[in-house]
Amino acid sequence: MKKKNHYHINFLSTENLNRFSEFRTDQNWMEHKLKSASTFFVPMTNLKNICKNNEVSQPVLLSKKDLEKFNEDSYSIYFLGELEKQFYFAADFHCANTKDEERLHKFGEPVELRKIMSSLEPDKASILSYARALSYWHSRNKYCGVCGTKTEISDAGHKIICANVSCKAEYFPRTDPAIIVLVSYGDKCLLARQKHWPKGQYATIAGFVEPGESLEQAVKREVNEETGVIVDKIRYHSSQPWPFPSALMLGFHAPAKNKNISPRDNELEDVRWFSRAEIIESFSKGTFRFPTKVSVSFSLLEHWFNKYIGKPLAEIINENN
Ligand SMILES: [Zn+2]
Repeated sequence: MKKKNHYHINFLSTENLNRFSEFRTDQNWMEHKLKSASTFFVPMTNLKNICKNNEVSQPVLLSKKDLEKFNEDSYSIYFLGELEKQFYFAADFHCANTKDEERLHKFGEPVELRKIMSSLEPDKASILSYARALSYWHSRNKYCGVCGTKTEISDAGHKIICANVSCKAEYFPRTDPAIIVLVSYGDKCLLARQKHWPKGQYATIAGFVEPGESLEQAVKREVNEETGVIVDKIRYHSSQPWPFPSALMLGFHAPAKNKNISPRDNELEDVRWFSRAEIIESFSKGTFRFPTKVSVSFSLLEHWFNKYIGKPLAEIINENN
C-alpha cells in the first residue's frame, strides 16, 4: 500500500525508489546487484529511452542476460536504485559498432521520453527520467572543465573524476533550479504562452534561478520581467524533476499586487489574466489548451482551480474530452 503524504508529489518523482546512495562506493555490493537475476537495466542511447511501441509505449528493460549480448565497451552503467524489490541500473549505450546498434534496435525503438511519458506508469516514468538525467550529465562531462583531460566514471555513475593525476577534479550530477509560479489577482490567474507552442496552449510563468539569487527573488524577477506584474507573498507548492535536459522545477503560488501587464522582455508571445469561467468556456470551445497534465504547471493550476470551484478540474476536463 502506498503511503499518504502531506505534500504534493508530481509526476517523475516517485516515493517508492530507494536510491541506496550509501552503497554507491561499495564495489562488492554493486557487483552482487549487477549479477542478480532481479536486476533490470534501463537502456539509453543518444539521450533517448528505448520503448516498444504497440498501442501504448512500453519501456524496454534489459536483463543481465540481454546485456551480455553486447560488447562491454558499448555502454556505461549507472546505478539507479531499488523499486518494488527490483534493482535498476541505467545502461547508457554509446555503440562503438553497428552490430550493437542493430542489437539494441531489436529490443525496441529509441524515443524521446518527453513525447511518451504521459502514457507511462508513474514509477516507470520516474526511473526512465532518472536514467535520462544521468545520461545527459555524463554526455556533457566527458572532459575535465579544469584541464581538458578525459574524465572517469566513479561511485556507480554518480561522480566523475579527471583522469589527470595532477588535477583529479571531481564532478557531481547537477540539476538546474527553475521556478514556476501561478500568479493570481482576485478571481483571475496569470497565464502565458510561447510562440512555438500549440495554438491555444497556456501555462504558468517560469524561468531559471540565477547565480546569487534566492528562489523568492527568482519568482519576483521572472514574473516582473515577463509580465510587468509585481508579486510579494510567495508560497511554495511542490517540485518536479524535469530532465529536459536537467531542471528541477520549483512550483509556487503568488498573489499579484498590480494587474497591469507590461512585459520588460520579449520572451512570451502572449500573457493575460484568465478567470476560471473564461478558462472553462475557452476549453470547451477548443480554443484553450491546458499545460500537460503531468507538469507542475498543471498541478499549480489545478490547485488554484479546485480551491474555489464546485467541481474538480480533472472532472471538467474529462467531460469536455
Ligand atoms: Zn582535470
